Amino acid sequence: MSAPRVIRTVAEMRRAVADFRKAAVDSGSVGFVPTMGYLHEGHASLLRRAREENGLVVLSVFVNPLQFGPGEDFERYPRDEKRDLEVAAACGADIAFMPSAAEMYPNPPLARVTVGEITGKLCGRSRPGHFDGVATVVAKLFNIVQPDRAYFGLKDAQQVAVVAQMARDLNIPVEIVPCPTVREPDGLALSSRNVYLNGEERAQATILYRTLERAREWIAAGADADRLRDRMKQSIAESPLADTDYAEVVTWPGLGDPPAGRPLRDLGEPLLVALAVRFGKTRLIDNMIFTPEEVAATCSGK
Ligand code: AMP
Repeated sequence: MSAPRVIRTVAEMRRAVADFRKAAVDSGSVGFVPTMGYLHEGHASLLRRAREENGLVVLSVFVNPLQFGPGEDFERYPRDEKRDLEVAAACGADIAFMPSAAEMYPNPPLARVTVGEITGKLCGRSRPGHFDGVATVVAKLFNIVQPDRAYFGLKDAQQVAVVAQMARDLNIPVEIVPCPTVREPDGLALSSRNVYLNGEERAQATILYRTLERAREWIAAGADADRLRDRMKQSIAESPLADTDYAEVVTWPGLGDPPAGRPLRDLGEPLLVALAVRFGKTRLIDNMIFTPEEVAATCSGK
């Protein structure tokens, strides 16, 4: 497939979408995949889905300084523009929007987007200000690209919930399309940050996936929220290099706290089981969403 058109300014990006809409007759929808680059098969799955469902596919690559806290990995976040463009071409993206930080933030932004209590838990608790940074840049990107659909990975489930809430509350006319997590054959969720792991850490990082699979069994066996959290922490501690940041269960998509003492399988609501684990300086996250039907199937041994 041909290389995407690379656009670096907000003005040119707006013009490209306006020109497309003027010319489009059928399938005139715009699909958008925002990323921080260093693209892998998880990003590619979002791009391919966007390609199937839209007339114009816009990828953005922008490492957003606003969503990194002090001491986090903004400076060393991996970057490879040439390879990103190859992946984008292979997935049929039409436009790669790759603005500089100065283009996106000519001045430190005074107006920011804050999304209330669902940002105060899970990653939002460990990374104060992170989701304000995400919501602000995604709102800016939505205003620049004006997509009909935007594709987000459930690997970052809380981000999906936050962005969907923001779009609803601010009446942004975009459909948020959640997409499944893509994993390595041994279960590790693909992440640009996996390149930070040394050999031993990489081998032990499968503990996230294995713990989530165990969580499914523990829920089916009748665990309540506290019991599940404890068992997940014990499970992660089996890997000597792993340091648990959080091991949580909340309702999905509301991110509410399950009532204490009640077996989770009796709640009749989808559950988000989410983990954040450090290996040295690298913080990995993963999660699974269990529907009541799936828990029932696990109970009956299917
Ligand atoms: P990032 O570049 O890490 O900010 O991610 C950009 C988009 O790709 C987000 O919507 C992520 O949720 C999504 N993504 C990242 N890793 C995966 C994965 N392993 N599977 C599916 N989507 C992913």
